[in-house]
Amino acid sequence: MHENETGLKEHHQFRDFLYWNAVAAVPVVSASLAIIRISILWFVMYLIVCIACLLILYKFYCSHCPHYIYGGHLMRCMFFWGVPKIFAPRPGPLSLAEKTLSIAAPSVAILFPLYWLIGEPGLLLIFLLSVFILVATARRYECRRCVYFECPANCVPKEIRKRSLED
Ligand code: SF4
Repeated sequence: MHENETGLKEHHQFRDFLYWNAVAAVPVVSASLAIIRISILWFVMYLIVCIACLLILYKFYCSHCPHYIYGGHLMRCMFFWGVPKIFAPRPGPLSLAEKTLSIAAPSVAILFPLYWLIGEPGLLLIFLLSVFILVATARRYECRRCVYFECPANCVPKEIRKRSLED
């Protein structure tokens, strides 16, 4: 694990990427199963919504992240590995519009499949629990040691941020 002397996680490893994508796959698979049983067309629409959500986050949220700004042309982070950095990096704070898009996009991807999941109580429970575990685990283990200080969810203590920025 690549933590610096302040305990911040400066680099992710491939196994981090595998872990976080496996966790993120559970709600997507449970939602897909609920939709595809009813309509292939809406399943394709759901995949398009998920891809659009990722692209919006990649352009307006990830482009402010140190894991995007620094390092080579290919991503090496907890969610993206080997993906080219197709958008220009944007060091510094997110604008209000970017913050709004960064919250709205994943919200749409979470709310969209609920129409079909309501008809499948078992899959709905798995979906809701897995979304909760994804967010709670990231909050519990990543946000408090993440170098992306501009992220609205970052909860690295002020004194550690200060020391890290002074280094
Ligand atoms: S660590 Fe998070 S915010 Fe940073 S580039 Fe990866 S997915 Fe985006």
